[in-house]
Amino acid sequence: MFNKGSELLNLCKTRNKKIWEIVVEKEIDNAQISYEELMNNMNSVLDTMINSANAALDKGVISISGLSGGDAKKMEDYKNKGNTISGQLINSAMAKALSTSEVNASMGKIVAAPTAGASGILPSAIISVKEKFNLSHEDMIHGLFTAAGIGEIIAKNATISGAEGGCQAECGTASSMAAAAIVEMLGGSVEASFNGASFALLNIMGLICDPIAGLVEFPCALRNASGVVNAMISADLALAGIDSIVPFDEVVDAMYKVGKSMPESLRETALGGIAATPTGEKLKRRIL
Ligand code: SF4
Repeated sequence: MFNKGSELLNLCKTRNKKIWEIVVEKEIDNAQISYEELMNNMNSVLDTMINSANAALDKGVISISGLSGGDAKKMEDYKNKGNTISGQLINSAMAKALSTSEVNASMGKIVAAPTAGASGILPSAIISVKEKFNLSHEDMIHGLFTAAGIGEIIAKNATISGAEGGCQAECGTASSMAAAAIVEMLGGSVEASFNGASFALLNIMGLICDPIAGLVEFPCALRNASGVVNAMISADLALAGIDSIVPFDEVVDAMYKVGKSMPESLRETALGGIAATPTGEKLKRRIL
């Protein structure tokens, strides 16, 4: 039905449909399931996302390695004091993103969207926007289908793997998916959704993958917190009517080429970047 962003955009325009509607049709066709079954499945995905985004907000969830944990609660407590630099919406989204990352690092249940390492970004984005704008549960479900369409295109035409394309491929894709979802949830056009998806991806192009000890904890959780903010500002840029001069498909291609040109040490091998700092090496020896 579609492999490229341009094809999905054309389908939406010629049939006067939103991204989520086309993605739903495609899923029903591919999986050979009913509309009701598909919605039930996505509701179950959303339930898991909501649980993981809230689980670490009021109690410290510590990772199996002991390397990380408790930061979601710190962020939530800080937000609740008020008078922060970024404000309630951004701080709340950051706390939720950290929460899912901490649940993941403690071997709890999360939704890999698109991967476990970047699993905090999409849930925190759609939940936070839903809360701020008093949207419906259905709006969040639609946002998830929009995000799925964007993620599928990036996976097909580039990569969503940190080991293959760096963190830009993981957290960048999650931000891109979330930005498109937010735009559509807030009534933006299909073109604006693709603009938001492009902005989120190009904003962090070149971001390397360098987890300490090869564990998906540090700096991963922090990049989920910044990733959701990236999604939100990208959605705002798009909703303001700003166009991406470079089309989405070309941004995806560029991200893939950048990933391919990254040295192996910067692609999840824990041999470069933050993982290779003296402190990163020391922690690795202690943990492993
Ligand atoms: S640094 Fe690597 S492991 Fe961590 S979130 Fe990014 S891509 Fe995933």
